[in-house]
Amino acid sequence: ASPSEPIRATLFPGDGIGPEIAEAVKQVFGAAEVPIEWEEHYVSDKVDPRTESFLTWESLESVQRNGVGLKGPMATPIGKGHRSLNLTLRKELGLYANVRPCQSLPGYKTRYDDVNLVTIRENTEGEYSGLEHQVVRGVVESLKIITRQASLRVAEYAFHYAKANGRQRVSAIHKANIMRKTDGLFLKCCREVAEKYPEITYEEVIIDNCCMMLVKNPALFDVLVMPNLYGDIISDLCAGLIGGLGLTPSCNIGEGGIALAEAVHGSAPDIAGKNLANPTALLLSSVMMLRHLKLNNKADQIQNAILSTIAEGKYRTVDLGGSSSTTDFTKAVCDHL
Ligand code: NAD
Repeated sequence: ASPSEPIRATLFPGDGIGPEIAEAVKQVFGAAEVPIEWEEHYVSDKVDPRTESFLTWESLESVQRNGVGLKGPMATPIGKGHRSLNLTLRKELGLYANVRPCQSLPGYKTRYDDVNLVTIRENTEGEYSGLEHQVVRGVVESLKIITRQASLRVAEYAFHYAKANGRQRVSAIHKANIMRKTDGLFLKCCREVAEKYPEITYEEVIIDNCCMMLVKNPALFDVLVMPNLYGDIISDLCAGLIGGLGLTPSCNIGEGGIALAEAVHGSAPDIAGKNLANPTALLLSSVMMLRHLKLNNKADQIQNAILSTIAEGKYRTVDLGGSSSTTDFTKAVCDHL
């Protein structure tokens, strides 16, 4: 696209608080004059046989065509004959790595003020392969799949990310002392990739020790790369270090350079429709999307406006101990632009 032509991006407002926080992003992008044209896609109320889920084929095509998108949280409706929405997105778009930066917010006091780490989660296999069955009554079995291909791919991405973002260290998080074969293969792949990046320090940390180190002194970590389940848990732990799920963004990286940004949190049914949600996590996810598009000026402007609004402390949502609504907070961010 020429500089004057807007860039097309897919937007899934999603469920629960999703539409409220997606509206916040649209307003802030409007105020910052971001050259993005959204293609909005909603989750359908019928299963699309082409995707076997409530996601339409057209919506997946939209992300594939645009190569970039922003996604609100999606609650998977309970029922038979369809696949989970998030799983469908991951599989169909080949979203193999989930990048979750976690940084202390200046002016918002938590136990730590020096958290600055990034978790990179393998997104396609491990315990989340969906292979569970009953062996006999009272005995069930779940298969943890680790492949060389997926492990190398996520390790490559972690080192590439560290180098591109001026980070010094990559820690592989594992339990290979017990899960010798699976986590053992994951580590072997990380080591192979580490050899190609001598300028980046590589270390291996056992997951239980990692948890202890994270809560004692999170500044010990820089970039962490890990299999699916560990990534799911550790990244929520990290969100807690800086003030909770209302604050933490993420971006899913897929095959062929696809990027689908999304907040770490879910649809928050307890506060949905009440104008109470903190839009910061989705706003910071949209900032990650802008950086992926190399719209760094716009990304910096929006990030600074969010951080100053929170630091100033006048407008904070309920999850951060304030009393502002989603719309008041969003307006304050727009005013800071
Ligand atoms: P949740 O993240 O929706 O909520 C956990 C707690 O955090 C709730 O008390 C909620 O009010 C609070 N919270 C979350 N986001 C917030 C925000 N932006 N501002 C203020 N408070 C916020 O987790 P849950 O309740 O376990 O899951 C609800 C639904 O979301 C489920 O259907 C789950 O499957 C789905 N989910 C989807 C995704 C995704 O789409 N990526 C991720 C996690 C959960």
